[in-house]
Amino acid sequence: MPCPICDDTRWKIVERGGVRRAARCECWRAANIERLVADARIPRRYQHCSLDNFVAYENERLQNAVVRARRFAEAFPVVDKGLFLIGPPGIGKSHLAVAVLEQVMTTRGARGLFYDVRDLLKVIRNTYDPVVKATEFEVLRPVMSAELLVLDDIGAEKTSEWVEETLNLIVTTRYNERRVTIFTSNYEEKEDRSDPDSLLSRVGFRMHSRLYEMCEFLEYDGADYRHRPPNAGSEDLLAMWKLQDRPSALPRRSGSPVRAQLRKPDPKADVAWPGGRAGSGH
Ligand SMILES: [Zn+2]
Repeated sequence: MPCPICDDTRWKIVERGGVRRAARCECWRAANIERLVADARIPRRYQHCSLDNFVAYENERLQNAVVRARRFAEAFPVVDKGLFLIGPPGIGKSHLAVAVLEQVMTTRGARGLFYDVRDLLKVIRNTYDPVVKATEFEVLRPVMSAELLVLDDIGAEKTSEWVEETLNLIVTTRYNERRVTIFTSNYEEKEDRSDPDSLLSRVGFRMHSRLYEMCEFLEYDGADYRHRPPNAGSEDLLAMWKLQDRPSALPRRSGSPVRAQLRKPDPKADVAWPGGRAGSGH
């Protein structure tokens, strides 16, 4: 149904002191927000996620993560650091990340963007295929310039020099431009720094220290929301958490079969970002 005030032109005529002029109709803001949310690439399975429908329970570290996430969303854009949500799969890290993203888009009109890290790398790689029309610049521009970016599941990608270079470029450019990022990862810090499933091994040394500069780390454990019965409340989740016997080590991914060999690009030439100062070494 078209807007009854402006007939969807998004402009209306206002009269002040006998002077008639055009002004933005109230529906313009709503349409703007709708477009921001639609352009944010939030996967369907997370589209319902908000801070209000996140079911927390008596789990101090999880509750702290929710408090920090809420505080971040309320303070945005006046925030120095992004967030890094770490812990085993299913404990609501992506839900929290998307909820914050959604809130800053709807309350601040911020330009937000969501990418699963593996998907992002795939999209960038695809631009090297001459058949694909999108250029690397077109893919990277919104990633570099989003006012809030969520990079979901970092560390899950198969590591290579190109992957490290590409992610470092993105993250460093955003850091230099003072744009905040929310990360999630299933890979925790380990005592043993050489453990192939430690966060450090998964993301590489440079990225690891950059993440500490850029983010507040929120590491927690909890019940697996994917296994909760319908309508489960806080009590049920607490019981599930207490009962579960999670193996301390996450499934090893290092042994996964090698995917089709991609043309190995020259990392520097291929990820050159004309607008950034990546690699400036600070
Ligand atoms: Zn209108």
